[in-house]
Amino acid sequence: MTKLINGKEIAKNLRNTLKKEIDNLKSKTGKVPGLAVVQVGEVAASNVYVKAKTKSAKEVGFEVIDHHLIEQTSEEELLQLVMNLNKQENVNGILVQLPLPDHINEQVILDSIHPDKDADGFHPLNVGKLSIASHNDQNLLIPCTPYGCIIMLKSLEINLSGKNAVVIGRSNIVGKPMAQLLLKESCTVTIAHSKTQNLEEVCQNADIVVAAVGRPEMVKGSWIKKGAVVIDVGINRIEANIKGENKNKLVGDVDFKEAEKNASAITPVPGGVGPMTIACLLRNTTVAFKNKQKS
Ligand code: NAD
Repeated sequence: MTKLINGKEIAKNLRNTLKKEIDNLKSKTGKVPGLAVVQVGEVAASNVYVKAKTKSAKEVGFEVIDHHLIEQTSEEELLQLVMNLNKQENVNGILVQLPLPDHINEQVILDSIHPDKDADGFHPLNVGKLSIASHNDQNLLIPCTPYGCIIMLKSLEINLSGKNAVVIGRSNIVGKPMAQLLLKESCTVTIAHSKTQNLEEVCQNADIVVAAVGRPEMVKGSWIKKGAVVIDVGINRIEANIKGENKNKLVGDVDFKEAEKNASAITPVPGGVGPMTIACLLRNTTVAFKNKQKS
């Protein structure tokens, strides 16, 4: 029978573990991790994500330092804010919600976050550390979505070593770090992308398929080898006829109904990778806090 990988449940367990750890750290140090959440403008999806991140952070016991800036904020002003947060003692993690308005260069802002406070794990130094660090380095700040995918894969208690893993998508925030993390688990990793030829065949050889494309239900059931594990990162809003009414619904990059027939385990959308991303953001900030106590 196909196992449904329950991201909500796994993320809840991770948050509970973090909460205990934070209670413990608080009684030892008198301090709790501080997360600065920076948003510029009013992108509707960002409002939802920031609200969810802030709520989760408070629930595990973090101090949340909220900076919601107006759309017209200049790159210079945002840089100045990040510089100030870099210096602030009570801030252990800085999260700048993407996308930023077009007049602000995202990479400039992400690069300006102090690598020790890089809650998203996007800073070039942390990207480099991820690629060279040893298998079990607990101090790394790791991009949240791919790290969440690895935790879900590990929850299956299968031997990942030597498995053929195909990651579809080569973005800096999902595809590339996902491939690095799978490599650390000793998988044989293929990164597929928009120029990949015979994608269907490439997928059919995979024991593990991670889809991070942003194209609704692009990965068909017939692309999935019998017994493969499928992790669907995609979040796509499509119009659907639900009980005679035209409504929006969320679907992944994988045709879930068909893929489920071949997969041994699969993540749903919603309720799969999404909740893990936020839990891993809290994990990174806790790691940053602990790293600081050690230094
Ligand atoms: P992106 O647009 O930066 O990258 C998409 C990648 O897909 C590119 O590398 C491109 O080469 C590849 N691609 C595009 N068309 C393709 C095709 N026809 N065949 C093969 N590859 C193709 O996107 P991203 O930021 O990596 O996000 C990917 C998806 O994951 C989106 O749906 C996004 O919403 C979702 N996402 C979810 C979470 C989460 O928390 N669940 C987090 C981040 C992103």
